Amino acid sequence: MSKLLIIEDEIAIADLEKDYLELSGFEVEVETTGDIGLERALNEEFDLIILDLMLPNIDGFEICKRIREVKNIPILMVSAKKEDIDKIRGLGLGADDYITKPFSPSELVARVKAHIARYERLIGSGVKENDVIEIRGLKIDKTARRVFLNEEEKIFTTKEFDLLTFLAENPNHVYTKEELFREIWDMESIGDIATVTVHIKKIREKIEYNTSKPQYIETIWGVGYRFKV
Ligand code: CA
Repeated sequence: MSKLLIIEDEIAIADLEKDYLELSGFEVEVETTGDIGLERALNEEFDLIILDLMLPNIDGFEICKRIREVKNIPILMVSAKKEDIDKIRGLGLGADDYITKPFSPSELVARVKAHIARYERLIGSGVKENDVIEIRGLKIDKTARRVFLNEEEKIFTTKEFDLLTFLAENPNHVYTKEELFREIWDMESIGDIATVTVHIKKIREKIEYNTSKPQYIETIWGVGYRFKV
């Protein structure tokens, strides 16, 4: 069951909100002062906070800001004045939604449900971030096996991608062509160290602004290649 906190100093409004939300299956707690409301919001686990703007001790602006510094739970701000909504937006406090008094309780319930559902999808979806290497405008997405230069995708073959990724993951380290060949191509591969040279050339054509003055993969004459950091 989702647990909500209402911070509202007008008891009649707080009771009305609480009744409707409880009828909709939420567990609801109410605080009527800003300081205690903030303290509970920070120290207890709630799924959503309904926050009035004008409150004794600490106002809703400050409470919203303080919660956002440490938590990203949905915050629905309630205000008696439309102008306040513009002010909340302008301040960029990080509230998820705003509602002006008087509002219909069913609208409040609908918004609360929507925000909780969205937040649960967000945290419960288990979507992991891709493993990405980023160096001066070059982005190698290892999970998706895609390469971007200044947000523009560059198409890489499997071996080009493996070679670039290996060098980028081991920057500032000189590898000989033999070492790179052994690392990227398996022993049965047809080819020789010239294959490495050809692949480096193709990679440079895709990611270097000036292939004769490489910014990423440097040639160490007589030795091999090094990825510059
Ligand atoms: Ca108030």
